[in-house]
Amino acid sequence: MKRPLDLNQFLADLEYLVNIDSQFSDPEGVAEVAAFFEKGFADIGWKGEKKELDPAAGPCLKITNGEDPYDALLLGHMDTVFPKGTVAERPFTRDENRAYGPGVNDMKGGLLFALYAARAITQSKAPGSFCIAFNSEEEIGSRRARPWIEELARQSRAALILEPARPNGDLTNERKGLGQIRVEFNGKAAHAGVEPEKGVSAVNEMACWILALHGLTDFEAGTTLNAGVVAGGTAPNVVPAKATMAVDVRIKQPGEKDRIAAKVEELKANPLTPGISVDADFFITRPPMNPSPGTMKLCALVEEAGREAGVEFAWQATGGGSDGNFTAALGVPTVDGMGPVGGGSHAVTEYMEIEQAAGRFALLMNVLGKIPAAKF
Ligand SMILES: [Zn+2]
Repeated sequence: MKRPLDLNQFLADLEYLVNIDSQFSDPEGVAEVAAFFEKGFADIGWKGEKKELDPAAGPCLKITNGEDPYDALLLGHMDTVFPKGTVAERPFTRDENRAYGPGVNDMKGGLLFALYAARAITQSKAPGSFCIAFNSEEEIGSRRARPWIEELARQSRAALILEPARPNGDLTNERKGLGQIRVEFNGKAAHAGVEPEKGVSAVNEMACWILALHGLTDFEAGTTLNAGVVAGGTAPNVVPAKATMAVDVRIKQPGEKDRIAAKVEELKANPLTPGISVDADFFITRPPMNPSPGTMKLCALVEEAGREAGVEFAWQATGGGSDGNFTAALGVPTVDGMGPVGGGSHAVTEYMEIEQAAGRFALLMNVLGKIPAAKF
């Protein structure tokens, strides 16, 4: 399918989309982005369906041109991390090489790739049954959208995640699983000078937990724990009655989840501070995305498509998660980073490489052309 990207139109659409604030907690903003795509896909005869997860989240979108099983699921998210008002402060801009603005790279460019690809497929009457799914809450972990995404993944032979390629152009076929441990410690306040023996220090117990949990870090196994947010106490001269912490957990091996859960249970059952009460919650939000044999076959197909498009890249593993973690964990061959090339995601420096957009779109089109006949 040789349908070149209409770069001027692409940049005009990108400007329109970037200039809509659509943070995860902004259902109206996300709905506005969804409306643009509903219309765009309807215009070319693709079937759109809204999925309402929750009134507090914007709608998700499912768009198809055929029945399941789908040859590929194209996944993206309409939410950004930037709050309402960001566009007023720093709207879409561009120079010769790069486009800037909230969500320009993560991932409104990737969403547009899906629409432009669908248009090219329709115009060239290319074969294939495809499902495009746009999530509304990826940036907060997709906890509500996960069952929906998994259902669509089970109906698909492969998953292409339209997140941006890495800044150097590399694609991703391996991501860590991630989760959190949240703990609340409740002790007893007392004057630290007059009767400290009557107090139960919540901070003391929290310190024991931090050391024990950090001790589970195993760089070789790909397991890391980070007590990233801690709080506790009221004044230096008061034995602290309360402390809370949130620990980021990353795993590469699925079994590591059990080792961490066992440690949390052990710490709960054997407090080192007499009289303390502990409330702990450990959950995995995204399972690890490890390249299966099916994924490796899909990677080979993507490499061939890249050679034909004259686009160079390598494969990178990353500690960050995406909705590709869900599809890969189900055993669906999954490749991530199929959107435009860019960097600075989640920061004011966010950008998309304009010059590389056409090449990346050609790569995606080649992949979509090959997938219907491929065996994984
Ligand atoms: Zn993203």
